[in-house]
This record gives sequence, C-alpha cells and structure tokens, in this order.
Amino acid sequence: MKQLQKANIDEFKAHFRGNVLLSGDAGYDEARQIWNAMIDRRPGLIARCASSEDVVQAVKFARKHDLLVSIRGGGHNIAGNAVCDDGLMIDLSLMKGIKVDSSARRATVEPGCTLADFDGAAQAHGLATPLGINSTTGVAGLTLGAGFGWLSRKYGMTIDNLLSADVVTADGSQVHASETENADLFWGLRGGGGNFGIVTSFEFRLHPVGPGVLSGLIVFPFDQAKSVLTQFARFTETMPDDLNVWMVTRKAPPLPFLPENVHGKEVVVLALCYAGDPTQGEKLIEPLRRFGTAHGEHVGVQPYTAWQQAFDPLLTRGARNYWKSHNFSRLSDGAIDTIIEYAGKLPSPQCEIFIGTIGGQTTRVAPEAMAYSSRDANYVLNVHGRWESAAEDGRCIAWAREFFAKSKPFASGGAYINFLTQDETDRIAFAYGATYNRLVALKKKYDPTNLFRMNQNIKPV
Ligand SMILES: Cc1cc2nc3c(=O)[nH]c(=O)nc-3n(C[C@H](O)[C@H](O)[C@H](O)COP(=O)(O)OP(=O)(O)OC[C@H]3O[C@@H](n4cnc5c(N)ncnc54)[C@H](O)[C@@H]3O)c2cc1C
Repeated sequence: MKQLQKANIDEFKAHFRGNVLLSGDAGYDEARQIWNAMIDRRPGLIARCASSEDVVQAVKFARKHDLLVSIRGGGHNIAGNAVCDDGLMIDLSLMKGIKVDSSARRATVEPGCTLADFDGAAQAHGLATPLGINSTTGVAGLTLGAGFGWLSRKYGMTIDNLLSADVVTADGSQVHASETENADLFWGLRGGGGNFGIVTSFEFRLHPVGPGVLSGLIVFPFDQAKSVLTQFARFTETMPDDLNVWMVTRKAPPLPFLPENVHGKEVVVLALCYAGDPTQGEKLIEPLRRFGTAHGEHVGVQPYTAWQQAFDPLLTRGARNYWKSHNFSRLSDGAIDTIIEYAGKLPSPQCEIFIGTIGGQTTRVAPEAMAYSSRDANYVLNVHGRWESAAEDGRCIAWAREFFAKSKPFASGGAYINFLTQDETDRIAFAYGATYNRLVALKKKYDPTNLFRMNQNIKPV
C-alpha cells in the first residue's frame, strides 16, 4: 500500500462512523476472510461502513490517496474481488437495514444483507423476490451480477425485480437510479456488477410466496444418470413457470433419508421447488419420481425460508473453491454425456456439477433491456470444484478446467458473470455479449479512471 501517514488515517477515522481496521487490529483477520478460502489477501485498510455517508468518505479517501479499492457485500464471490492486497477494502457487511412495505409489496435492502436476512424479513409478510439458493450469499453481489434462484422461472432474475438503487459513484456523489432517474446507470447496475458505483440501498418488488412451498430432493443412483438426465432435460423444457427443478450430481452426503450404503457414492439429485398451490404441485412433480428407481426422497411442504437454507450445510465457508460455468439454451445428448463422464471422476468428495434451471420469465425480457443479456439461457451449468487442502488444488482445478473445455461445444453462449473465477478476464466481453459495448461507454461516463476495478472489470476504453 502507498505509505499513508498516521495523520491521514486519523483524519479519515474522524469522519467515519463505522470501524477502520488495520493489520493487527482485533477483527482485521475476520473481516478480510471471505467464503472462498483460496483467497487470502491483506488490505492496507478495511473501512467497515455504517452508512452511505461512510461510503462517500471511503471513496473520497481512496481517490485522494490513489488507493486500490475493493468492495465487499456478502463476501461470497468466487473470484474473491471483495478483498484486495494493500489497498482499501470498503466493507458493507455491517449495513443490514431492511424495510418491507407489505401493502406496496416493496422492500428496501442495504448492501450488507444476506439472502437469509432479506428472505426472513419479506416472508414475515408472506412475500419474497427471486434470490439464490444459498442463504449466506450477499444480496448486493448477487443482484448486481443478475441473480437467479428457485423463483426465477415465475418472477424472473433478481434484477427483473429491482426497482431502484442508491449509488455512490466514483467521484463520491450520491445518486438515485431507476427507470426514470439516471436510467443509463440503472440499466448498467442490472448485471454490470460493481463496475459503476457502490450501491448503498436496493429497492425490490416483492411477490406473494408460501409461506409453505412444496420442495425437496429426489436422489437417483448414478448408474441411472443417462436416463434421469435425459428425462430431466426434456421435462424442464415444458414444465410450467411455477415449477423449478435443478440437477446436481455429486457424492451423496449422509442425508438421513438415504440408505447408509449410498453415503459417499455418486448420485444424481433432482432438487425441486413449486412456487404455487402445493396440491397442484404434487401432480406436476409426480413424473419426476418415475425418471428411475430412486434411492430415496425428501419432498414435502416446508417453509420457503427453510428451503432457501436447505443447501447451506454443503456450502459452508472455509473450503477451497474453483468454479467454471456455461449457459445452455438446451441440454443436448453431448452435454449430458460429458456431465456424466466428469461426474464419474470427481476429484474430491465435495466437488459437484450442477445445472440451475432458469427459463420461464427470465427469457421474456429483451436481451438489451439491461446489462445482463443472456435471455436465451434456460440452464446455467456450474462445475463446482470444492476441496479442503492446498495440496489438492492442482488436481481439482484441472478437473474443473477439463470438464469446462469438453462441455464448451454444447453451450449456447454468454456466461453468468457471478460464476466467473478470477482467471477469466478474457470471458467478460463474451459473458455480456450484445450489451458489452454500451457497458464500456457507460463505464467511461461513470468511472473513467476505473476506480472500481476489483470486479469482473469492464474497462473504460
Ligand atoms: C455457495 C454459493 C451459492 C451461490 N448460489 C447462487 C445462486 O443460486 N444464484 C445466483 O444468482 N448466484 C449464486 N451465487 C453467486 C453469487 O451471486 C455471487 O457470488 C455474488 O457475487 C455474491 O455476492 P456477495 O455480495 O456475497 O459477494 P461479494 O464477494 O461481497 O461481492 C461480489 C462483488 O460484487 C461487487 N459488490 C458487492 N457489493 C456491492 C455494492 N454494494 N455495490 C457495488 N458493488 C458491489 C463487488 O465488485 C464485489 O467484488 C452463489 C455463490 C456461492 C458462493
């Protein structure tokens, strides 16, 4: 880090309501740790903001002293851009305010909120908006990268439900962005990641959901994978928007509804959620049970908030993670065969290949309506490399890369920016596709010096 004088730091602290942490301070090491244990960086300063005014102070301080800036929301992003070496980490995780206006079906959410925080507050009124499937993820990063989950087929991407945002821009101004105010910035925020400013408040549309939703898992033996995946591919092409079914293939965790001799063996898991009347849903999910002879299932009506947390035990922080992702408009035989081949040689017990099904409402928005343009993506495939020790890095990363390369010919183009690793800077233009040039122009307008560059960076040139 550029050598800052103690006096500079003291002056910054004097105008800052939250905490400023330096190496050696209590809480510094905890604050610099994020979900992916492969990222181990040491910021020169961590500014734990308590308010939007703190964010303004932090941005001005970084500009004045020419500091590298990273922005942390929930700290989940796989690429690890939430933390920088040396520079200033602007940590928003203490900003956790949420207001739900149940009669207007709107929520304002601060950028330190996790999905669990948001789901919990909205479900207190029987409401929700589409978010991801792991409740410890940050609302901020998820939303800015586009966001999808169980409700997306019915209600769209998370950004399709974003109504407005308060933003601190690179020059330290506070602006409001919506369809009618700073509409170009609002366009860019919806998928453009952290490139255009720091969002200090998000306003979302909410929908009636649950509180009980028909949801759960059906687990099939791996030797039935070809038949189960082929039927899954065709079934998901025509299922109604209320229903969502994802596929995960991995080694079976010790789930109580599975026979003990299946634990640790490769399995194919269908995870489902029906966002309408459970009685209707029961009829619709019946064919899934006949995709093969299941090892077991755990399906029933449970609180939406519980289902939103169902995968948390498998996705705890502290493991080493490396991801690769493709979009698919259709799952062809070639894609299915490649998935089965690589699921048959998982390099660690925690590695998995999953297909997140989107489609439905997510595809009914024009590709150039927002920064996120992959409106032809019906499936987002993620190869989730996950393991415990650095000694396994080479083997697990090689497996993920090899699978990614082999499955590429079957992909439909574009990529989900929130699933890119730090070594995929060459895929950013490809990920945005049709909207990339407009994003570059917008970056030039809102952040010409590229202050916000610790992200899937859109360069202002
Ligand atoms: C286990 C797991 C499961 C996931 N499941 C899903 C899923 O189901 N659906 C889905 O869509 N995604 C999913 N994701 C991906 C997730 O959306 C991204 O990792 C997202 O970036 C996480 O946001 P965060 O705030 O937690 O991350 P952070 O690492 O804190 O932030 C990510 C980046 O976003 C930017 N950023 C964060 N906050 C702000 C802000 N307030 N203003 C400006 N820029 C900001 C910064 O550039 C930062 O580097 C999952 C990730 C994990 C690890």
